[in-house]
Amino acid sequence: MTVTPRLLIVGPQGSGKGTQGARIAETFEIPAVSTGDVFRANIAEGTELGRQVQAVIEAGNLVSDELTSAVVRDRLAQPDAAAGFLLDGYPRNLAQVADLDAFLDARGENLAGVIELSVPREESIARLSLRAREQGRTDDTEEVIAHRLSIYERETAPILGVYGERGLVDSIDGVGTLDEITERILTALIARGLNPVS
Ligand code: AMP
Repeated sequence: MTVTPRLLIVGPQGSGKGTQGARIAETFEIPAVSTGDVFRANIAEGTELGRQVQAVIEAGNLVSDELTSAVVRDRLAQPDAAAGFLLDGYPRNLAQVADLDAFLDARGENLAGVIELSVPREESIARLSLRAREQGRTDDTEEVIAHRLSIYERETAPILGVYGERGLVDSIDGVGTLDEITERILTALIARGLNPVS
């Protein structure tokens, strides 16, 4: 039986989940859906959604569950997500876990795995400071970074307990070269019965 690659990648800011998520999605030929990227694209394009979320994102707070879950449901309902998807940055709290459960249950679908990328706090901060210098993201200032990391620890880390009880979590060491980390993730997913396409 083939397992449909419906995957989550979870990790603190600066864990490399965006980069690794994109690599894994490419390997399985599934869309990588990053809620942060969707919001940033909407802000850049000046859409209504972008205007609604800009101040919240710049302050490093979470966008409302209602708005975020609606964005994800719309995206996952598109045809290219039928054969699987990788969600990066969603769910971010327990309420969003419940929203995703309801969406998947209604479609008779299951998650195949949750990749937890773990990196020490100091390493996350060092990577984020570098990204701030390289990319100039408005939410990558030192103060906002610390705030986002504390939200991660308080609101997002608990979702791993829930998925862990379901036996879905593979905890991956996120320190190493990009290729080493991708390899660790692929090994874990293959052990779950997933078949990379490329
Ligand atoms: P990220 O690129 O994943 O770090 O997301 C950047 C920002 O977008 C976050 O700091 C939040 O303000 C917002 N955001 C992204 N994903 C979510 C989510 N699942 N729930 C609420 N806010 C989110």
